[in-house]
Amino acid sequence: MRIRSGFRGCIDMTDRYAVIGNPVAHSKSPRIHAAFAKQTGQDLEYGLLPTPLGEFAASANAFRATGGRGVNVTVPFKLDAFAYATSLTERARAAGAVNTLKFAGDTVLGDNTDGAGLVYDIVERLEFSLAGKRVLLMGAGGAARGVLRPLLDQRPTSIAVANRTVERALALEQQFGAQGPVRGGGYADVKNESFDVVINATSASLSGELPPLSPGAFAPGALAYDMMYGDKPTPFLAYAQQHGAARTADGLGMLVAQAAESFFVWRGVRPDIAPVIAQLRAS
Ligand code: NDP
Repeated sequence: MRIRSGFRGCIDMTDRYAVIGNPVAHSKSPRIHAAFAKQTGQDLEYGLLPTPLGEFAASANAFRATGGRGVNVTVPFKLDAFAYATSLTERARAAGAVNTLKFAGDTVLGDNTDGAGLVYDIVERLEFSLAGKRVLLMGAGGAARGVLRPLLDQRPTSIAVANRTVERALALEQQFGAQGPVRGGGYADVKNESFDVVINATSASLSGELPPLSPGAFAPGALAYDMMYGDKPTPFLAYAQQHGAARTADGLGMLVAQAAESFFVWRGVRPDIAPVIAQLRAS
């Protein structure tokens, strides 16, 4: 496993992957995939592909021309990647965004592994079944949309989507309501309810804020999950601990699990995420 930050002009037999985004220097993906490659004995390179805004296709084309086999796609290019793909998985289509591209000749497979990553982290690593549970999903942006279909596949009793801008939550109800028990609304609509799982898919934690969630939102035994992660508990996880959530988890597990799913799409091998989470946590 080698890591390079510039790929142009270097052609050898090793399969090449990268994360494409702007900015991308802070990405943990090279470290995660280096750990996966070492763990599974796969010979590959994984680097950074910093790309100016508006140049996604040119950057992806150049990478493919030098032997690139696939990329992870991060902000702000997930919609560009969706448009760039020549075929899409069902979960990418449902998400309306692509975070993983696999290149094979002229074919570009677009996938979205975010939802699978979240579900894997909750159900497999945290061993918290979603079947028959009442789920509150806070936020109605790209992350929320990307996880709804995989969450529905776990057969929860209901998924309430609450968002600051109510119309966006209603749009998700419109898109997913026919596929399962999804309803959208504002925070006021759920203020008298409690839930078995509360997932924070807002970016509020980025600015140290908390969505306007009622203190009674956490049912006995509830799991509070924040897609954000950091050195210390996010405002949402601190609030959840104070108001009765039995378990809390941040999004580092989701990050590593979605990467593992991408690795599986590319290599057909599924790495063990637990040691990689521990490694990132320790550093
Ligand atoms: P978007 O910008 O698409 O959406 C942001 C959402 O947050 C909107 O619903 C917005 O509401 C809401 N929001 C922002 N600020 C507040 C606030 N102060 N109070 C209440 N709601 C607020 O972002 P994404 O959906 O792409 O990402 C959301 C979060 O998920 C990010 O923090 C991101 O880092 C994280 N994430 C983590 C992943 C992981 O692997 N761990 C993977 C993907 C995302 P409104 O519509 O009203 O503006």
